[in-house]
Amino acid sequence: MLKSCGKKLLLSFVGSMLTCFLVLMADQQKGQVLSLAGAGAGLLLQPFEGSRGAGGGGGGAGLFSQLRSGASAAQSLPEVKSFSDYFTKLTRGKRDVSPGGDGALPGGKAAPSRPQLEEISPQDVFIAVKTTKKFHKSRMELLLDTWISRNQDMTFIFTDGEDEELKKRAGNVINTNCSAAHSRQALSCKMAVEYDKFIESGRKWFCHMDDDNYVNVRMLVKLLSSYLHTQDIYIGKPSLDRPIQATERISENKLHPVHFWFATGGAGFCISRGLALKMSPWASGGHFMSTAEKIRLPDDCTIGYIIESVLGVKLIRSNLFHSHLENLHQVPKTEIHNQVTLSYGMFENKRNSIHMKGAFSVEEDPSRFRSIHCLLYPDTPWCPLNTVY
Ligand code: UDP
Ligand code: MN
Repeated sequence: MLKSCGKKLLLSFVGSMLTCFLVLMADQQKGQVLSLAGAGAGLLLQPFEGSRGAGGGGGGAGLFSQLRSGASAAQSLPEVKSFSDYFTKLTRGKRDVSPGGDGALPGGKAAPSRPQLEEISPQDVFIAVKTTKKFHKSRMELLLDTWISRNQDMTFIFTDGEDEELKKRAGNVINTNCSAAHSRQALSCKMAVEYDKFIESGRKWFCHMDDDNYVNVRMLVKLLSSYLHTQDIYIGKPSLDRPIQATERISENKLHPVHFWFATGGAGFCISRGLALKMSPWASGGHFMSTAEKIRLPDDCTIGYIIESVLGVKLIRSNLFHSHLENLHQVPKTEIHNQVTLSYGMFENKRNSIHMKGAFSVEEDPSRFRSIHCLLYPDTPWCPLNTVY
């Protein structure tokens, strides 16, 4: 009885191995699993942070929702010819969204940090904060009360409307005279001014932030010190799990497909002066706007296009940058002080912010930025004494 059972088991095992082998052989010959790979990747490669609605804001929403759906994933993956190829691509995709070159583990956990390569001070860094008149009160005041209050000299606020109150409170306010609309053109217009002002400043590092970012300047300076500003450095966090696909307009009726990684503007990103200077033919003066028009993508995608596609320099991924399009609850409380940027806002129609007990309740401090600030700088006059974290 046992013997015949064993025989049957052995036969069915051999049978299934043979079937698998035949299927694989057929696949190798035909190389036709692209559609399967695409659909699978659409499901399997979704990171927890999801895809940013539109890089720097408006304009790209349609394109991004397209990218999120499995149906178009096939087009946005590099060509996959066999099962083994397919699995290699999947593992590569996963590796791409995990630890960055900055000594950070998923969820922002700190790994042994990189050694210092260059001594820099906050004065060497140019932080551009992008805002718009309607957010001067609701967003900028919170930043001015918290991280900007300690870093006035390195922070430059780029807005689109005159505001005497804001000018009184903040050191460097630049009215870009760009439109206040949340359009692709308006956002590119602001990025173009940010770039020009940075070049003019002569500083070593350019960092772009949104007005819903908390910047931990101590960690930012530490991270940048582990690179040389004369090298080609582009560092930040992508919000997509694969390179973005776009078409560059070469002439009136000639389009050319391109794909490249970009750091999402909502998490903040930095560029070394060495690299920024090389970007000049595509980014300075009016060139940034025309480059953005050439690929018809938002400001942060255009930055990625110039750096990766045109100049061939690779984005360095860092998990120390955070946008509100990732689940901010996943940043461990014990690692908050090690992060470079934090954020708050909406994610999948829910409020999203750093999860922590702190100096203030969620009702008093929904963004958690005040509590984070008190955690980092407990000597701030308005921080309560003896807070239990
Ligand atoms: N923004 C802008 N003009 C607008 C709307 C938004 O410059 O008309 C800026 C805003 O101040 C922020 C960034 O664009 O720095 C992203 O805006 P928001 O956080 O509202 O949108 P998200 O893309 O993060 O959902
Ligand atoms: Mn935002």
